[in-house]
Amino acid sequence: MRYFIAIAAIVLAVLLLAKPDASGIQLITLAKSEFGWTVTYSLSEPTDRLMFVRSPDRSRSERWQPLDSNVAISWQDGNEVITTRNGEPFDEVSFALDATYVPLPKDYAPFSPFSNGGMLVHTGRFFACANTCTANHHEWPMAMQLPTDDYLLINGTRQQGFFEWLDRDSGRAIYVGKQPPEHFAALVTLIDPALPQSLQYGLVSELPMIMSYFTKQLGSLTQTPMLFASYGDYQGGYYGQQGGVLPNQIFMHWYGEASLENINEETTLWFFAHEIAHLFQGSGLRYSSTEEAWIHEGAAEMMAYLYTDSKLGQSSDLLSTAVQEAQQKCTAAWPISETFVAVGKVDFRTHYTCGLVANAELHAQLKANGIDAGIFTLWQTYSDLIQQGEPANSTTYFAAFKQLTGYASMTLRQLIDRPVSMTVAP
Ligand SMILES: [Zn+2]
Repeated sequence: MRYFIAIAAIVLAVLLLAKPDASGIQLITLAKSEFGWTVTYSLSEPTDRLMFVRSPDRSRSERWQPLDSNVAISWQDGNEVITTRNGEPFDEVSFALDATYVPLPKDYAPFSPFSNGGMLVHTGRFFACANTCTANHHEWPMAMQLPTDDYLLINGTRQQGFFEWLDRDSGRAIYVGKQPPEHFAALVTLIDPALPQSLQYGLVSELPMIMSYFTKQLGSLTQTPMLFASYGDYQGGYYGQQGGVLPNQIFMHWYGEASLENINEETTLWFFAHEIAHLFQGSGLRYSSTEEAWIHEGAAEMMAYLYTDSKLGQSSDLLSTAVQEAQQKCTAAWPISETFVAVGKVDFRTHYTCGLVANAELHAQLKANGIDAGIFTLWQTYSDLIQQGEPANSTTYFAAFKQLTGYASMTLRQLIDRPVSMTVAP
């Protein structure tokens, strides 16, 4: 009996150790009512401060109004934190939110409104931890409280009233509103009716082709991805667009009237092709590092060009023109004396330009070695290695190349410096 207790104690200890660090948060509740949006943090035990996981700027202190005048959002050591003015510990705080679109530096907008009253919310904006957030914090229990006539679209399912879920990592996009989702081409979509008809038609006709192309190259997805395209007014005459990708989700938001007049359909479809490539990148993307983003960004660029090429046929020189331009931009931004990691930190565009050139060269070399699907086969081999426990970095990427061809890959710099005319095979 004693042994059983000892074993049970060990099992319990292992379970406790394996659990990700508790954020100290019992529940983060978002609520929408006729008065607007609020967020409430309910804590497991009283704390002196709550720190946000991501603080790209100080805009929460302007856009979040505490419902208790003793509560404040301030800036400490590069992070936004919630504290009380009198220093007393707290176990619950609520804020009224300015639920309008705001572009955040290097982060996704918390609210992307639809023209018909719907809202796309990025949950990651609300992640916080008692005291301090560390890299070991991964999970946040969340809930949504909705008015009766709205529904919540989360993980491809429709929910009403009050709904709880366990969120994690970078968060997800959730939709709140009345517009029904459409299911087509292995995608669930919500496309704003205010977007130009021609773009809506372009999306409806092109997305199925993009999806089937990548399914053929990289295998089918385990979950049905969601695609959101929203449009909202914007004050001050500003306009623009922002898009992004989260696991299994793609979104793009246009803001300001002028953004609709300036929609370039080709560029938009191109954007979606690049983002859909990311959806199919699986574990190769999931564990990727920002320092070596040239691997997944360059591969997504290359994959999107290969899709366009397959659609336009052999006559297209779109890819070779793009690679030539990218090579000029890459070599102009990357002095030989510097490491790529240092350059990429200053100029993130180099992950796309240098990444496209390198991946185009790898693709051409793979094809020359009889690997017809080129970069797609490389990506699958790379993902397999990552699943076997290898890190998602250039060493593993080049190891995948060696596994396929039998010889070592050139360095990133050598791949970039190859004359482009030789690299691009149709
Ligand atoms: Zn990308």
